Amino acid sequence: MIAARLALGAAAGWVAYAWGAHLLTGSCVWRGPATRRRIVLTFDDGPDPAWTERTLTLLDRQAVRASFFLVGERAARAPETVRRIAAAGHEIASHGWSHRSLWLCGPRRTDDEIGRASHFLADTVSRPIRYFRPPWGMVNAAMFRALRRHDQRCVFWSIQPEGLRAVPAMRQIDHVTSRAHPGAIVDLHDAEGLRDAPERLLAALPQMIAGLRELGYEFSTVGELLT
Ligand SMILES: [Zn+2]
Repeated sequence: MIAARLALGAAAGWVAYAWGAHLLTGSCVWRGPATRRRIVLTFDDGPDPAWTERTLTLLDRQAVRASFFLVGERAARAPETVRRIAAAGHEIASHGWSHRSLWLCGPRRTDDEIGRASHFLADTVSRPIRYFRPPWGMVNAAMFRALRRHDQRCVFWSIQPEGLRAVPAMRQIDHVTSRAHPGAIVDLHDAEGLRDAPERLLAALPQMIAGLRELGYEFSTVGELLT
């Protein structure tokens, strides 16, 4: 019991330290510069052979380019989908190798999760991977060193219409359009995480995009927003 408490205390200390380091270093990004009316749609958790393809068709029809934060081991099962995302002009970014929370990873596993995903994705699309989004938004202290080693930046989001609970498509549209701001990074999911999440997203996307355009926003990738 005492050992368990000590372990819990150590874990809490580790997490607190991670967040402290995170805030102090400022090495993570939540939004881009507000200098232009630009917004980025980011898609996490893919590639999914069915849902990602449908997302690509929809984005193509709407002439929107976006950033896809892919899970390495899912990418290894669907490399053709990864290449199609890149060929359509979207940005390939990393969401770790196995989608394991970094809270559960020591320094070596953290480096492995980040390095393995980045190497595989870079090899698959023949271009370097510059951005990483930690699974579940959870960071640890080792992440910062691993990101420096693999030349990546940590990217969160400033708008997230659906988190841990299902949100109907209409409310997602309203959530995004009412909170839109110059330099916003919107977190979306084009692969199964929450039940039926991709289905709700695909239902929401056309109106979400139209609403943002009406507000005067143009769409870019994370790389374009931050450089
Ligand atoms: Zn995720």
